[in-house]
Amino acid sequence: MTTNSKRDVSLYIHFPFCVKKCAYCAFFSAPCQNEELKDEYERAVIRRIDSLPEINVKTVYFGGGTPTVMGSARLCRILGSIFKKYDIESNTEITLEANPGTVNAEDLYDLHSAGFNRLSLGMQSANDVTLGIMGRIHDNATFLQCYSDARRCFDNISLDAIFGVPGDDFTATVKQMTELEPEHVSAYSLMIEEGTPLYENRDKYVFPDENEEGAQYETLCRELGAHGYRHYEISSFAKPGYGSAHNTVYWKRGEYIGIGPAAHSFYNSRRFETPKDTQRFIKRSVLPFLSDTDYESALPLTPEESEEERVMLGLRLAEGVRLAENRLEKAKYFAESGFGTLQGNVFALNEAGFRVSNAIIAELI
Ligand code: SF4
Repeated sequence: MTTNSKRDVSLYIHFPFCVKKCAYCAFFSAPCQNEELKDEYERAVIRRIDSLPEINVKTVYFGGGTPTVMGSARLCRILGSIFKKYDIESNTEITLEANPGTVNAEDLYDLHSAGFNRLSLGMQSANDVTLGIMGRIHDNATFLQCYSDARRCFDNISLDAIFGVPGDDFTATVKQMTELEPEHVSAYSLMIEEGTPLYENRDKYVFPDENEEGAQYETLCRELGAHGYRHYEISSFAKPGYGSAHNTVYWKRGEYIGIGPAAHSFYNSRRFETPKDTQRFIKRSVLPFLSDTDYESALPLTPEESEEERVMLGLRLAEGVRLAENRLEKAKYFAESGFGTLQGNVFALNEAGFRVSNAIIAELI
C-alpha cells in the first residue's frame, strides 16, 4: 500500500489476436487481420480503462495472444489512456509481450517512447526445425533481427523459451540466450493440450521422456546460473534487479485487474474472469466496471482457500514460504530428502524440488 491510501493493484490487458495459431497453443487467441475489429477492440479496452476505480497502479502488463498484432499506434494509445487516468510512477514496470515477425525497429522505438519499459519476446527456440514443429511464424534469423532492434531502445528484455519439444535437445537455445544476455528468461516445458494440432498429431512425434526433459531443465538452470542469472521462480531467471515485478504480484497474491476476454482478476478477495468472447467484451465495455466479468458469482476466497493459495504460489519462489506448524513435519522430510531447505518455518524448494514441485505442493497443502 502506498502512502496515498489507494490500493496497489496491477493491470493486465489481454489481446486475443495472433498472426496464426501455433500448433501447441490453447490460449484464448485467434488469427486476426481485421483492422476494424482491432479498432473496436482498442476503443473497448480504453472504455474499460476509463471505468476502472481509483487505484495505485503497481505494474502494467500487455499480454496475449500477440499484443503487437494490434499495431504499435493502437498499443501506444491504449497505454496513453492509462497514463491519462492514473499518475504512474516513473519506475513502474510496464511490460509488452511481442513476437518476432510482428514488430520492426520503428515499432519498437515508438512503443518504448510511449512508455513500455520491459519487452517480453517470444523466442521459444533457436532451432528452426523446432520452431516449425511448434508452428511459430518466425525463424531464428527473424528473432535475432527483432532482438537486435529491441536492444537499441529496451534495456529490460525477457526471453520466453520452451523445452521438451520432439527432436530438440534445447542446448542451442540455452547457448543463444546466454550469448544474447537478456535481463530475464522464462522457460516452460511444452504442454500437449487436447484440441491443439500438436495433440491431434502427437503420434507422429517422439516426445522426450521425463528424464530427457529433466536433463534439459538442468542444463538451463546450470548454464543460466553460470552466466549470472538468479533462478528466483520455478520457470524464471533474472539478472540482479530484473525479476518480473508483475509476475511477482501474482505469486505473492497481490491484487490485479485483468481487462479483455479470458483475462483473470484477483480483486476484493475474489478470483474471477472475463468470459472468453471478444465480441461480448467489446459490447459490454460500455457497462460499468466488472459487469463484463463473472465477479458476482465468484465468492470471496475462504481463509482456508487463501492459505492454500499462499503456500502453493509461495513454493514457486526460491525464497520459499512460511508454513503453519502442521505442515512443518512434511516440509522437514522433503528438506532432508534433498528437495529444499527449511529454516525456522520457511520452506523453500531447490532446483531438485522445482522439478517435482507439483507432487511436493500436493503433499503440503
Ligand atoms: S503466438 Fe502465443 S498466443 Fe499466439 S498462437 Fe502462438 S502461442 Fe498462442
